[in-house]
Amino acid sequence: MSEAYHKVTALGLKSFKSSTVITLTNFRKMLSNRLYVGFISFPTFGIENQPADFQPIISSDLFDKVQYFLEHGHRSRANSKSDPATFPLRAFVRCCRCGVPITGSSSKGRQKYYAYYHCRNRACRSITVPVDKLHEQFHRLLAVQSKSAHDFTRLKSVLFQLAEQRSSHTAARLQQLSDTLSALEEKKRILVDARFVEKALDQETFSEQVRHVDGEIKKIRANIEKVGTEPAVFDEALLEFAEEVYKTPTIFWGRSSINHKRAIQHHFFPEGIVADGEKVGTSSSPTPDFITSILSACEEGGGSPSDDLWNRFESWILSLRLLKKCLDTPEDEIAKWRYRKP
Ligand SMILES: [Zn+2]
Repeated sequence: MSEAYHKVTALGLKSFKSSTVITLTNFRKMLSNRLYVGFISFPTFGIENQPADFQPIISSDLFDKVQYFLEHGHRSRANSKSDPATFPLRAFVRCCRCGVPITGSSSKGRQKYYAYYHCRNRACRSITVPVDKLHEQFHRLLAVQSKSAHDFTRLKSVLFQLAEQRSSHTAARLQQLSDTLSALEEKKRILVDARFVEKALDQETFSEQVRHVDGEIKKIRANIEKVGTEPAVFDEALLEFAEEVYKTPTIFWGRSSINHKRAIQHHFFPEGIVADGEKVGTSSSPTPDFITSILSACEEGGGSPSDDLWNRFESWILSLRLLKKCLDTPEDEIAKWRYRKP
């Protein structure tokens, strides 16, 4: 690191505040500042690693390599087969010929290493693509997923209406269940009267009837619990997060660390993608994305979405929650965990 330090100070890197040559300590701090990869932290305001609104000037891959160097005092085997940060799409993309997930390798040229992805199936080996080329193809596929602020305004309004419909539906369902429960409890009371007050029932019939009624009561109570704990449809914080991710998914992906990249890939393409060397795509027939479908179903139809669409909505929300949870895990924690087991 001191070599790099002497190089940049010789080139004239100065401290911003004092206009004197930057100290080694501050140079080290600068190298681990996530601001340059597009993340802001203001601990006094409780802001930690929030995605910034500007284009990062350093790629997260380079940043990760530098962090490894700072921690270990030597280069990571960044260009070797085992460095995951070089190959975020490894195992996620499948070969279009044989369907086997692709892997990544590097080979040493005269000056530097060349990293590429290739089919790992020895019998096939149809695909060999330079890392940058496949990433560019992936960027194009990901860019199509982007949604405007206007789309999100429409989505919020549609989901807000759906949430209201859903909550009145839930209220009606709870009322119905609670009426059934009262009726069953009344029935049980009548049975007790019939057995012990009017003595019109023998013990055997009484026990059998009570067992039956108790079974029904148990079922209804379980249903009430289930309906009452359904997750909220409209979650403003989650939608804001979604807007951030969908605004420019390519930038979001590009500046994320390897583990976050993988989570983002999985969210957008849960079934993975296939590559033929020239382009990448999804293996299933192209279907309009969830947001477009729900907007057209609710705005044009003016009604509620179909069950199928509703199920897709629920899995979308679930997938978003998981993504948010993963991205909320501090970068450093994930990085340490990764570097301990290279
Ligand atoms: Zn193959």
